[in-house]
Amino acid sequence: MTIYNFSAGPAVLPKEVLLQAQAELPDWHGSGMSVMEMSHRGKQFMGIAQQAEADLRELLGIPANYKVLFLQGGASSQFAMVPMNLLRGKSSADYLNTGEWSKKAIKEAKRYCGVNVVASSEDRNFSYAPEFAGWKRDPAAAYLHYTPNETIGGVEIFDIPASGDVPLVADMSSTILSRPTDVSKFGLIYAGAQKNIGPAGLTIVIVREDLLGQTVAGTPTMFDYKIHADNESMYNTPPTYGMYIAGLVFQWLKKLGGLASMERHNREKAALLYDYLDGTDFYKSPVARANRSLMNVPFTLHDAGLDEAFLKGAATRGLLQLKGHRSVGGMRASIYNAMPREGVLALVEYMREFEKVRG
Ligand SMILES: *Cc1c(COP(=O)(O)O)cnc(C)c1O
Repeated sequence: MTIYNFSAGPAVLPKEVLLQAQAELPDWHGSGMSVMEMSHRGKQFMGIAQQAEADLRELLGIPANYKVLFLQGGASSQFAMVPMNLLRGKSSADYLNTGEWSKKAIKEAKRYCGVNVVASSEDRNFSYAPEFAGWKRDPAAAYLHYTPNETIGGVEIFDIPASGDVPLVADMSSTILSRPTDVSKFGLIYAGAQKNIGPAGLTIVIVREDLLGQTVAGTPTMFDYKIHADNESMYNTPPTYGMYIAGLVFQWLKKLGGLASMERHNREKAALLYDYLDGTDFYKSPVARANRSLMNVPFTLHDAGLDEAFLKGAATRGLLQLKGHRSVGGMRASIYNAMPREGVLALVEYMREFEKVRG
């Protein structure tokens, strides 16, 4: 039976990448050792790291005045690293609140500065994103932070907010590489790898150079972006195996035609699911149409009493990890880059059958 893993993270990886990693595991390119065993300062691993960065730069069109950092600690560490590095003498920052991840970023930032919440969608259980025109921004804010894709609520913001001279900061953990992004519009982008990049343990930061070097007093060395930038992410031992797998994923994306092509695939996959949800009263999407995520699709059954039977039936068909987050209820299908179209078709087919039997 083919297994389709709809987990929100750690999530599905491309089959080709896993098979290549398997083939190269004990002996990478005739080196006689696994990538896991290599010195991070040796010629072979330095080559792997440089290729990974070059491919990521090519995929996202990252301008030359941006640094790419390969860090650890997850997106959650960035909730603290962002204010520590980007306050630059200022005392407050702007945050948009669109869900559980925004809330965590806000909570952590409050340890370092005043937080001005420019707008919130908590009034309707985070089922939409407030219109940019209504955001109440503080002209003195050090930066403007938002979460372009709320992984739990399945709420995506497709247009990039125009932040003017205030650096725009984005937690792209669950949307990075799903479609083209104009990096030049951002001061800083961060993402945990385990959704759309590779294994958990690697965190990627893309940051404009001029924002570096003005950390708040007491910032630990490991939390200073400039230290990592000056040392090409080799200040300490970076997550080498995760960087290697991420590099294979970047090459896989390039082979498939890059991010414009990936966006077409992703839109097509998401439409299969949303079109079906819109055509029935048995299931329902709780998210406003304009903000429906291409990556995380929550949906509820008209009778929550059927949830357990739905999940059980799904598992017997190899459709796994569909249980929704407790804050939304129902189901959530995460359909990241590596989820094949066939997986979404199998899910829709099962939903149709379940509706026929239980509807
Ligand atoms: C998963 C996720 C996080 C948390 O990432 P960790 O790597 O577990 O710290 C933060 N923000 C978003 C948007 C996420 O999807």
